[in-house]
Amino acid sequence: MSETSRPALTIRMHGDDNVAIVANDGGLAAGTLLPAGVPGAGITLRDKVPQGHKVALTDIARGAVVRRYNVPIGYALKDIPAGSWVHERLLQMPAARALEGLPIASFATVRPPELAPLQGYTFEGYRNADGSVGTRNILAITTTVQCVAGVVAQAVARIKSELLPSYPNVDDVIGLEHSYGCGVAIDAPDAVIPIRTLKNISLNPNFGGEVMVVSLGCEKLQPDRLLPPGSFPISDERDPALGPETVCLQADHHVGFMSMLDDILQSARPHLARLNARRRETIPASELVVGVQCGGSDAFSGVTANPAVGYCADLLVRAGATVMFSENTEVRDAVEQLTSRAATPEVAEAIIRELGWYDRYLDRGRVDRSANTTPGNKAGGLSNIAEKAMGSIIKSGTSAISHVLAPGEKLKATQRGLVYAATPASDFICGTLQLAAGMNLHVFTTGRGTPYGLAECPVIKVATRSDLARRWHDLMDVNAGKVADGEASIEDLGWELFRLMLDVASGRRKTWAEHWKLHNSLVLFNPAPVT
Ligand code: CA
Repeated sequence: MSETSRPALTIRMHGDDNVAIVANDGGLAAGTLLPAGVPGAGITLRDKVPQGHKVALTDIARGAVVRRYNVPIGYALKDIPAGSWVHERLLQMPAARALEGLPIASFATVRPPELAPLQGYTFEGYRNADGSVGTRNILAITTTVQCVAGVVAQAVARIKSELLPSYPNVDDVIGLEHSYGCGVAIDAPDAVIPIRTLKNISLNPNFGGEVMVVSLGCEKLQPDRLLPPGSFPISDERDPALGPETVCLQADHHVGFMSMLDDILQSARPHLARLNARRRETIPASELVVGVQCGGSDAFSGVTANPAVGYCADLLVRAGATVMFSENTEVRDAVEQLTSRAATPEVAEAIIRELGWYDRYLDRGRVDRSANTTPGNKAGGLSNIAEKAMGSIIKSGTSAISHVLAPGEKLKATQRGLVYAATPASDFICGTLQLAAGMNLHVFTTGRGTPYGLAECPVIKVATRSDLARRWHDLMDVNAGKVADGEASIEDLGWELFRLMLDVASGRRKTWAEHWKLHNSLVLFNPAPVT
């Protein structure tokens, strides 16, 4: 008997899998007979199986492989009869694939069927002087150090209430607040990561090339170190050799707090005026730079939302756009699929270099990729990182991987197509690093549910299950649960998402996170020591 009104439904990802997941809201009770037409038809459930969790489709002997997505996600710790609930306590996780002897760039020799170019799709965006395109028109105030955060927050509030009404074409004013800048080993080799991340975020296409900096004065990360003169375009007529335009709170001319706020407001005016003069223009879809990630994943992530995002990723690549996927610990178990899909041997080597660096980073903390999974992932049916990884990389679609970015690096204008931006899987850190890479649109899939959003860039959230989409109707932008309900195909949803992206990029539609102003903090990835 199903606990819901719908007939019992199971979903198997590959014909050779010996487990399927239960799709029904509320799961299925012990004693349920799986009906004709679904994987495992004729099997009676021996246990209650929660929604999103796995059921054994055959008798699985102790030590035998448990297979999902046609890859081993674990080995049975005891005999598992058909119809049993297969949960993480019954599985031994497979070892991570060594980074030696991987298949390299098979795509270079065995070309997959060429995806036909997709032409004629456009959006309305803001063309920047460097050729990049913004989907929003935002004044972002760069900060060199956390010490100035409170002052900048008050300055931003005053700019919004006192100045912004006079500049109606400017979407927002934000302070790029962070926890870095001082009290850190700034000369440690890995300090390059947080420093270039901050620099590159201040150059994100949604900020129109308008760089203004608020500094304390005595901090380690001096403005010239963050934004070396000549290393970034300057929007106004000032001499580029002067470096970034900076308000320094410790400057002698400041007497009292109001003097600092007035200085920041005064400095903001010309930037607001230039941003306000910009207008959206029709731009080919090839200028989209879409960052995809998932968070609060469940077993449906890899069945509904992530495959739909993957289909959409292929549409974007066909349209000449850039798609970044990330999350080192969630691709580690699929590394041979990534190195096979590399467009060139150099790209495959870069993937191995980044994942090897990350293995050693985790090793320093005496953990490995298995530290990734959360209690919520497991409650949602994901037994371990091997299973989670297979569902995660589906977001990347099927095209060849054309480039690899190290954490905090920025895409070059020539780097298009499918890009692996090597970042931690942490939602906030991944989003922060994708902003630094130049993301102008963000897609985020979730099964357990997260209200995640960014002030810097629109975030389209995709629910993996209809139950979540119903309950969080004013937080989720797309319901991929329609796939599990049999109401839409992966292709339908991929196209729905693609069209929604063009609308959101054009400012015709706001995401729910924008509507409610749900903004997560920038969280820098600092693998270097603090002092
Ligand atoms: Ca994530």
